[in-house]
Amino acid sequence: YAAKDGGRGRHYFYAADLHSDAEERRQLEQDLRDALTQGGLELHYQPVIHTVTERITGFEALLRWNHPTRGMLSPNKFIPIAEDSGLIAPIGEWALRTACSDLAHWPESVRVAVNVSPLQFANPALPAIITNALAAAQINPGRLELEITESVFLTDDEGSDAMFTALKRVGVRLSLDDFGTGYSALGYLKKAPFDKIKIDQSFVRGATIAGSKNGAIIASIVSLAEALGMETTAEGVETLDELDLVRMLGCSHVQGFIYEKPLTFADASRRLETGLTAIAMGPRAARAVRHTMLRKVVLENGGQHYHGTIRNVSATGAMIEGLWNVPPGTIFTILL
Ligand code: C2E
Ligand code: MG
Ligand code: MG
Repeated sequence: YAAKDGGRGRHYFYAADLHSDAEERRQLEQDLRDALTQGGLELHYQPVIHTVTERITGFEALLRWNHPTRGMLSPNKFIPIAEDSGLIAPIGEWALRTACSDLAHWPESVRVAVNVSPLQFANPALPAIITNALAAAQINPGRLELEITESVFLTDDEGSDAMFTALKRVGVRLSLDDFGTGYSALGYLKKAPFDKIKIDQSFVRGATIAGSKNGAIIASIVSLAEALGMETTAEGVETLDELDLVRMLGCSHVQGFIYEKPLTFADASRRLETGLTAIAMGPRAARAVRHTMLRKVVLENGGQHYHGTIRNVSATGAMIEGLWNVPPGTIFTILL
């Protein structure tokens, strides 16, 4: 039926989640409750590097859930569940407290940035929660940065104005995450006291490909930020070409796999013991050259035959259209 719903001439692989999405969510919510009380959540830390000096200026704290049967789960999978179920409040507070107490072990020049959900931002108790976390860890407020997305501006103007004032009074830094991906107007930049704009990785990805307009967008975000006295972090930089580009365009900071993936607290601490200098390491360009084609093929898996179309091939892979819902890791034989 899923294949029929999708239109004519399609194949669907059977997958349990086709009929049990809601059930899965309920189960995950219960598991998340347990994780919070039984230590199943972790923070991983990704270095943020100053573009010119190539020194680590801080880390972004990224939530990880080590699920007993599913393994490491991405925050994209469980943050929405936490937000729907109200669990985001205790999870967010746990993240703030943990990040502060971990930060207490690191050099004074290093900061930590913690992602704050719009629901936490709407909670008048947030400044007090932060003050408590800072005091418990004996951290200077200027070492904590809160990452907030544009979506906080979609609701209640007065509430968010008051929250910005209160947070600035606490003395923490504020950064605007995933800039350019939301639906907000630019007007809020006039009054919101951000220290930094984070340029979303969707602008970095593909920016080095000929004809891309992403470079122009990055350049204009950088000049906007500079005019407003804010720093910029280019997110998701994966290749040396992307690094060269964001450097040339004047981004003040870089975060991405080209320097380091998110590290456990232990690995981040060991990393800092070797010094603050970071070294970019990775591929020069994003991917192998692709050859476009339009070729009908038959794909064989487990004795079944499926029809597909090869759209392009490169030295490392092929893009094949015509199959839906293929489980990751499925191996096909292509009959040419
Ligand atoms: P974000 O705040 O924009 O975080 C950056 C994401 O980009 C992270 O994904 C990071 O692992 C990933 N990333 C970093 N460098 C690269 C790269 O070079 N290439 C690619 N492809 N990806 C890169 P992650 O850890 O899966 O987190 C996803 C999102 O979940 C975060 O996006 C943030 O919005 C949210 N999140 C994470 N931790 C928390 C938290 O403690 N609280 C809340 N409310 N949200 C969180
Ligand atoms: Mg972030
Ligand atoms: Mg981001």
